[in-house]
Amino acid sequence: MDKRTQGDPTTGTRAGQPLPAKPHDAFRNYDAPARDTVREFYRINHAQQTWAFGQRKRAEFLPLRRPTMTLPEALDFLETLVDDSDPDLDLGQMQHNLQTGEAIRRDGGEDWFVLTGFIHDLGKVLCLFGEPQWAVVGDTFPVGCAFSDRIVYPEFFAANPDAQDPRFTTRLGLYQPNCGLRQVQMSWGHDEYLFQMLRECLPEEALYMIRFHSFYAWHREGQYDWLCDAHDRAMLPWVQRFNGYDLYAKAPERLQWSELKDYYLTLAARYLPARLAF
Ligand code: FE
Ligand code: FE
Repeated sequence: MDKRTQGDPTTGTRAGQPLPAKPHDAFRNYDAPARDTVREFYRINHAQQTWAFGQRKRAEFLPLRRPTMTLPEALDFLETLVDDSDPDLDLGQMQHNLQTGEAIRRDGGEDWFVLTGFIHDLGKVLCLFGEPQWAVVGDTFPVGCAFSDRIVYPEFFAANPDAQDPRFTTRLGLYQPNCGLRQVQMSWGHDEYLFQMLRECLPEEALYMIRFHSFYAWHREGQYDWLCDAHDRAMLPWVQRFNGYDLYAKAPERLQWSELKDYYLTLAARYLPARLAF
C-alpha cells in the first residue's frame, strides 16, 4: 500500500470530524496556563536541559538495556502518569495516546499513522524508571547552540549554564549550516527515547513524528530552519499533520480501552515485537 495516498499531509482535521472540546486557539495557553504545574515545570526544564545533561542521559538510556515489557504492560504504567507540562490535559497518558490514535483513525489515517498516534508518548515510561518529569516531557529544543526566543518561557533559559558557554551561544553553536536535524542533539526526553526504541519498526514519516513531535519551535514557530536539510523539510508537513491530532484530540472524556483493546493490540502486533526493548 502506498503510504502517501492520504492527500495533503498538512491537513490535520477534516469536515465531519466531531468538534474539539475547545477552540484551537485555546490550546497551549502559556500566558495563563489552566494547570499550575506548567510554569514551574518549564522553569526547571529550561535550567537543567544542557548539552552535557543530554550526553549523560544518552549514555545511560541508549543503548536500551532495561528489562523488556509488553505493550500492555507499558500502557498500564502510562495511565498512572499525568504530564505536568501539559496545559490542556489532566488525564493519564494512556488516555492521551488513545485519544490521539482514535482521532487519526476517525479521519481514515493509514494504519501505521493510527499506530503512531497510539504509541507516540510511550517514551514517557522514562518516568517509570525514576526520571523526573523535566527530563522526560515538555517541548523539546536543540542544545549545543543558542536557544530560540520562540521556545515557550524563553526567559527561563537565563538559568541554563549553556547560555553562558561561548561554544553554545551562537545561532549555529556546534553545528554546520543545514547539517540536518539528525546531526543535532535535542533536549533529552520521551521523543528521542521512543525514536531510538522503534527506529527499525516504523516508516520514516512515523519516526519523524515520534522524534520531533515536541519540537514546537520548529514545526509551529518556523525556527531552526538553519539546522535543517532537504529531508527535514520534506518530513516537516508530516510532523505538522501529526501535531493536529496530538494537540487537538485532547479532551476531558475518557475512551473505553476495553472496547478498543483488540483493534490496537492487533495493529501493534503487525509492526512491533511482542516484547519491547527499553
Ligand atoms: Fe509527547
Ligand atoms: Fe502527545
